[in-house]
Parts: sequence; C-alpha cells; structure tokens
Amino acid sequence: MRARLIVDLAAIAANWRRLAVAGAPAETAAVVKADAYGLGLAAVAPTLARAGCRHFFVARLEEGIALRALLPDSRIFVLDGVGPGEAGVFRAHRLVPVLNHEGQIARWREAAAAAGEPLEAALHVDTGMTRLGLADDRVLALEPADFEGIRLVLIVSHLACADDPDHPLNARQLSTFLGIRQRFATIPASLAASSGIFLGRAFHFDLLRPGAALYGVNPTPGRPNPMQPVVELRAPVIQIHDIRSVRTVGYGATRELPSGVRVATIAAGYADGILRAASDRAVARYADFELPIVGRVSMDLVTLDVSAVPPERIGEGCEVTLIGGADGVDRLAAAAGTIGYEVLARLGPRCARHYLPAEPGP
Ligand SMILES: *Cc1c(COP(=O)(O)O)cnc(C)c1O
Repeated sequence: MRARLIVDLAAIAANWRRLAVAGAPAETAAVVKADAYGLGLAAVAPTLARAGCRHFFVARLEEGIALRALLPDSRIFVLDGVGPGEAGVFRAHRLVPVLNHEGQIARWREAAAAAGEPLEAALHVDTGMTRLGLADDRVLALEPADFEGIRLVLIVSHLACADDPDHPLNARQLSTFLGIRQRFATIPASLAASSGIFLGRAFHFDLLRPGAALYGVNPTPGRPNPMQPVVELRAPVIQIHDIRSVRTVGYGATRELPSGVRVATIAAGYADGILRAASDRAVARYADFELPIVGRVSMDLVTLDVSAVPPERIGEGCEVTLIGGADGVDRLAAAAGTIGYEVLARLGPRCARHYLPAEPGP
C-alpha cells in the first residue's frame, strides 16, 4: 500500500495541442526540465513528440542527454548553456546550447572552429530578469565575428512577471526584446512561457515555450484554469482512530481534537510530495467528502479528519485523493503558501507512478 501518482498523458497531449492551436502560426515547444516537472521524462517526452511537438527545452546537460536517448529526431535546447569542457558532449548528443554569456559564446565558437563546421545555438538575452542571459546592452555590443562558426537558430528571453498581466515589467521586457530583435531580424525569436502565452499575440513571436501549463498548472492565476488537470495523488488509509476523549494529533501536538472526531492516517507524507507547509491547511477528497488535514504532515503520513464520512464507508485500504480535480495542484500549493510548480517538482519518487495512456489502447 503506497501513494499512487496518476499522470494523465492524454491530458498532457491535449494541453500541448490546445496551446499549439491557439498559438499558431507560432510554433509550440515543450519544456521538460526537472524530469518533466516531476512527472517522468521517459513517459512525458515521447507523448509530446507524438502529439506533434518538435522542439524541447531542458535545463541541464544531463537532462538533454537523457532526452536525446528518448527522442532521436527532436531539437533539444539546453537552457544552462555550454559549460567548461562540455562542448564535446553537446555535439555527441546533438544538443543545442542556449548561450547565456560571452564565455559560453566563445566556448561554442571555439568548438565550431575545432569541428570545422557550423554549430547551432540559441542566444539568451536578458531583458529584465537578471537570471540567465546576456544583458540587452551587451548583446548590442557583440560583433558578427563573435558568432563565427555559430549558426544562431533562436533568440530567447524570459518574462519575470507573466503571471501578472498588469505588471509593468511585461511591457518593458517586450519593448527591449523588440529592440534586440531588430539586430537579429532573420532569426526566430521566443519570449513566452506558459503565462506569457496568455498575454496576447504581441508576446508570441516564433516559438512558445510552455512547461507548467502542459502539466495542468493554471497559467492565468486568479482566472479560471484553461488547462486540463493532469495529475492525481492518491494514497490509502492505514488506520482509523475514533477519538473518545480530548487528545492531540501529530508531531508538536498542534491540533487538539474533541471526542467524537474520527481521524484517518494516510500513507503519504512530505517524502511523497505533500508539503509540510500544508499541515493543518490542505484538504483531501474522498468520494464527495472534503477531508481537512489535521495536525502536521510528517515524512510518511498525513492525518485527516474523516468525521463527515459515515464509518461504514471508509476503512483500511480505501484511497483518498490528496491532489486531484481541476486545480488540484494549485490548491495544494495555495494551502502550502507556494506555487503549483513547486508541488509538481516535489512529487516524490516514492509514489508509484501510473500513466493513463495518450492513445486509446489496441
Ligand atoms: C522553466 C522555463 C520555461 C517554462 O516555464 P513555464 O512557466 O513552466 O511555462 C520557459 N523558459 C525558460 C527560460 C525557463 O526557465
């Protein structure tokens, strides 16, 4: 008996297609870094490729190598860019570095000279996030000779506040990006990730880079979620307690429960991805019942108030849903004071993963 993570591959494919149709004529890539946001690269990436996705982004070189083994024909961009001593590995696996600074540009230029053939790369321009990418003024200072042997196939920038449509930085980043774009007019450009797609066509350029939205996270916080839910986390009841006199539950004795309350202990904890910050705040589901977490989430277990469920309807082995339904990921995140991205990325390797197939079976 252990927690089960159910990943709906058909919903991931549908979410990708939805963005691809809405975003056309821009092309839609897929961001599959961090093991496809914790959902399993080996299942997710081929699903997206079969749905029609041809461009993929990962963060780390190792993720690119793993993805290349799954997808022999896709274009794979590595957002971290090419580090010292890595150029040969990039070439061996046909990975395209996103060049973030002058050192990386020089490294790739030298790799091209050594190879005696042009090498593809993307260029990341920092338009206001100050994380990765060459600041816009330094990009304008670059000479054509700096790119000798480098075939730029994409100009990338990333929005800091796309989930807040009214934030003034969106327009400032767009205007800076448009300025840079003039310098590289013939090269495809990419600005929007999940939330940026919903800022409108002016932000779309040639290639969209959604990650979280593919996996069911709401890219438009505060508005209805346009994406289909993708994940469900279910875990079984191990034990039920009938409280007969006032007592506390869990570490730290944070909750005192009166007589008459019934508590179910569930086989999922923070090692499975139920964030400890959701202690005493998140709500699980069982049939039509909402079951509040009572007491602290511990490593292996959570305790739920199941008083609302008729005793004969719940017992050992019954599965409750800890994440599920529309906005399940975002709801747990809100209860824990974080974002859906972090909930997904922390879904533990200890859960058994079950994939609902994207295509109907034979
Ligand atoms: C993670 C990432 C994305 C995807 O962002 P989502 O908000 O998950 O769609 C796109 N571009 C860059 C540079 C990223 O780091």
